[in-house]
Amino acid sequence: MSELPSLTEFESFQTLLKNLRQQSSELNSPDAWPADQLREMSAAEVLGWLIPDEFGGSGISNADLTAGYEQLAAACLASTFVLTQRNAAIQRIVQSENESLKKDLLPDLVTDELFATVGISHLTTSRQHLSQPAVAAERVDAGYFLSGEIPWVTGADKADIIVCGGTLENNTQILVALETITQGVEIAPAVPLMALNSSRTATVKLNHVFVSLEFLLHGPVENVMKQTGGGAGSYTTSALAVGHAANAIRLICEEADRRPELNEILQPFAAEHAAISADLSQAAGDSSDASPPNLSAEALRQRSNSLALRASQACLAASKGAGFVASHPASRLVAEAMFFLVWSCPQPVVLGNLRELACAGFHDV
Ligand SMILES: Cc1cc2nc3c(=O)[nH]c(=O)nc-3n(C[C@H](O)[C@H](O)[C@H](O)COP(=O)(O)OP(=O)(O)OC[C@H]3O[C@@H](n4cnc5c(N)ncnc54)[C@H](O)[C@@H]3O)c2cc1C
Repeated sequence: MSELPSLTEFESFQTLLKNLRQQSSELNSPDAWPADQLREMSAAEVLGWLIPDEFGGSGISNADLTAGYEQLAAACLASTFVLTQRNAAIQRIVQSENESLKKDLLPDLVTDELFATVGISHLTTSRQHLSQPAVAAERVDAGYFLSGEIPWVTGADKADIIVCGGTLENNTQILVALETITQGVEIAPAVPLMALNSSRTATVKLNHVFVSLEFLLHGPVENVMKQTGGGAGSYTTSALAVGHAANAIRLICEEADRRPELNEILQPFAAEHAAISADLSQAAGDSSDASPPNLSAEALRQRSNSLALRASQACLAASKGAGFVASHPASRLVAEAMFFLVWSCPQPVVLGNLRELACAGFHDV
């Protein structure tokens, strides 16, 4: 695992990790939502990581953020995933030039008072093959009408604000901070998933929803997601996959304590994990925009996905039949690892993962 960043060395962060690990199996129950976990993250000052200090947050560096995510994901993937979607919304608010909206929203987002999330995948990785935009935006006096369906929104029925995108007729795009109480916003029930059900991910219908200019964050501009960085397949997504792999490797290590023959597989996994974690830390800390190809976000995401998938399956095999019982952590880790094959995966990463599965060439992004 990478060197601990200063903020995550705090005792409160270490206590948070311990609590998250202990509570992680509770999130498997139906209708679960990580409210307690978010409250504890708030108390440990994790919710303000991306918020500048002028609004009450701590604005930590990218390298610290990536290392922090890795450790949180190793403790509890479900609540950490929810945190990333909240932070994806915060990131777009912070980068906005709408100063009065920032003043309104950011101080409350430092704590768990307010829950914001994102519905932006239809601008990057979802429904790209369809001729019509998932969410159409129409400019009118004083704002925009939004119509259509946001395909994926984590924590939709818990959200106060959804940062979401719409496409205008001239193909330019906007991002707005949509209040979920706005007339015409229809949140579907959370969709049953193969894992991470406590993320309460759902589609959100927008029935001719009026959003005033006060809530405009970015645009209209072509490719609005390019403006706001950290899009699909960012270092964040890799940090979660690497943290998830660390959890699987920790369980293999516990088995190996009793069964030394497992050391043969433990060691290569631990070495691979250390190498990816170090590369991720280096890449996330490099602000030059000129990272070598092996440290590109896509290359690291593909390696991280591969490790998460293989380490979780090795954890299951090492746990034997006992690991196949639904309540065993190995069983949950395998199902959760599948998430990385579909979450926020740009096409080259999908192709790289598919080629690896077909044994048709690896690391070929
Ligand atoms: C648990 C979970 C939580 C998520 N949370 C969020 C969130 O909070 N916010 C957010 O913005 N996003 C979120 N996402 C979205 C995620 O980041 C990806 O965008 C999403 O997984 C992409 O999958 P898709 O099915 O929408 O892709 P699509 O490309 O829309 O594929 C859907 C289906 O369309 C068909 N299809 C695909 N490509 C083609 C083609 N070229 N030609 C013909 N047919 C095709 C296939 O049958 C495919 O199964 C979440 C995803 C998951 C799984």
